[in-house]
Amino acid sequence: MVTVGTGIGGGIIIDGKLLRGAHGAAGEIGHMNSVPDGLPCACGRNGCAEQYASGNALVRDARALAASRRGEAGLLLSLGGGMPEGVQGVHLTKAA
Ligand SMILES: [Zn+2]
Repeated sequence: MVTVGTGIGGGIIIDGKLLRGAHGAAGEIGHMNSVPDGLPCACGRNGCAEQYASGNALVRDARALAASRRGEAGLLLSLGGGMPEGVQGVHLTKAA
């Protein structure tokens, strides 16, 4: 199973049993390195997949683009109360 939401999660079930792995995190694909020396992650490493392909990553990137390209981000900024920091995931969905 793979979940994509604010982060990226996953689990592996084999023969009806959850595969935990040596450290209890088997299937935790959101923290697999995807970009060498990439963006820092809350897990303490860099370049994890969820830094690039999660809801939180989408909001972070949208806020940055809205801040740097305000003229093109009018709808998104208005949904976020006029400030890039106000933009939430629900606003991205609505704008799309
Ligand atoms: Zn991580």
